[in-house]
This record gives sequence, C-alpha cells and structure tokens, in this order.
Amino acid sequence: MWSRILRAGAAVAALSLALTACGGGGGSSSSANLADKAKNDKKLTIGIKFDQPGLGLKQPNGTYAGFDVDVAKYIAKQLGVDESGITWKEAQSAQREDLIKKGEVDFIVATYSITDKRKNEVSFGGPYFIAHQDLLVRSDDTSITGPESLTGNKKLCSVKGSTPAQNVKDKYAKEVQLLERATYSQCITSLLNGEVDAVTTDDIILAGYALQQPDKLKVVGKGFSDENYGVGLKKDDTQGRTAINDAIQKMEQDGTWAASLKTNLGQAKYSLPTTPPAIAP
Ligand code: GLU
Repeated sequence: MWSRILRAGAAVAALSLALTACGGGGGSSSSANLADKAKNDKKLTIGIKFDQPGLGLKQPNGTYAGFDVDVAKYIAKQLGVDESGITWKEAQSAQREDLIKKGEVDFIVATYSITDKRKNEVSFGGPYFIAHQDLLVRSDDTSITGPESLTGNKKLCSVKGSTPAQNVKDKYAKEVQLLERATYSQCITSLLNGEVDAVTTDDIILAGYALQQPDKLKVVGKGFSDENYGVGLKKDDTQGRTAINDAIQKMEQDGTWAASLKTNLGQAKYSLPTTPPAIAP
C-alpha cells in the first residue's frame, strides 16, 4: 500500500519536474525571454496603432503600414521571424501596459513614450525616435497658437492613458475642457465636426493626420515636451531588451531607419531628423 503511494508520489514529482523543464526551456512558454521565444516559435504578436497614418495604419486591403510598422518588422526579422509570422494587434494608448503584462503581445511599437511611471510596469528598448507634444487645429483657426492659448472656452481632445492627456491635465487642466477618447482618429472626427477646437498629442502623429487632410487641418508647431519612443516589452526581460536594441541599432546604421521615415512621413509638413537618438543604456 505505502509503496504504491510512494511510487505514485514519485511519478507525480517526476512529471512536475518534466513540466518545469519544459516550461523553462520550451519555445512556446510565456516565461521564456522574447529572443528565445521568437527563435523557437518563428511567430510574434506585435502591438501597433491601427489608425495613425505614417506610423501605424491598417490599410483598406488589410495590410499595415508606417514607420512603427517598419521598426516592428525589422526587429522581428532580426529575432528570426518573417513578416508572415507576425500577428498584428491593435494597442490603444490606455491598453499598452496591460497587453504586455498579460502576454497578449510580445512587444509594442506604437508611438509609446518611455516614462518612469510606465517603466514600473514594462521595460523599453530604444528610444528610436523623439517627438514633441503639439496641437492640431482646423486650418482656418488663428486663435490657437500654442498651449497657452487654450483658455476657458476652448475644447481639447486627447487620448486616454496618453502622456499628452496627462500633461494637459497637470498643466492646463483648470483652463481647458479636455475630452478624452480611446483613439486619436476619434479626436480627429471631433475636430472636423467642430465638437472640439484642438487635438493634442505628439507632433509626428498630428503631422500624419494633417497630411491626409491638408485643406482642413494644420499643426500649430510649438512642441512643448520630449516624447522618447520606446519598444515596450515584458518588465525585466533583459535579454529581450538587448535583442531589440541591437535590432534598432542595426536598422539605424544600415539606412533602413532614415529610409522608412522618408517613405512614410517624407510628404508631411515635418522636419524629419537625420540622426537617430542615442539608445538608452
Ligand atoms: N507618445 C505619447 C504616449 O505614449 C502619445 C502618443 C500615444 O498616445 O500613442 O502616450
């Protein structure tokens, strides 16, 4: 009797050992670091924006285009994953940390500013671009010339969970009526139909929208913050972060970085940088 129980116990112990070993070294384990997982699975789920022209845009034919999409594809390739192995997932601003923490995406390239607050929840590779918070207004508006002109009766739209919305709340909250949406394209609709007077987010994002409707929209052009775009991944995945940084560096050095900016945003009223920012240690 006892020997049977002992034997059963030993079998269970052996099985759980085997499972642990599997989990630790197996490719599809969610606990494996990003680089090993990509190498073994040849698949990645990547979070991007779906509605930001020039950066991350789902096109009518179902493909995805933009600078962030190119950065994501380049990193994937360096990790051993072809474009056909990528599943794209929409990563709205307020959902990004959660998507990473829950393992619903392997990493995120979505105009995602590196901040100390976010670093408590996720890790960041990069930065690979520096943008500046700005304002988008209707072309015929001459009353809004910078954040200081957002006085009492002006209505401003931004996106929940974004750094610009937080910045406005902290610095201009008493002066302006802030409307928060889930995506920037919803803010653009509100700006065009007169529901709000301005949209605030990063200049590069606003320039992409202005390019789509140059007769109706213009960027004010007074950047009032530095937004360091990073690639978000699981907190403390040091190996994954190093692999991402190596890929970004390669993309910058072989000319792909500058070429992608030119292809995706060269037509926008935006002075594109010629040199990339230094990658954080
Ligand atoms: N870069 C800012 C942020 O990460 C604004 C753009 C965005 O919401 O994606 O919050």
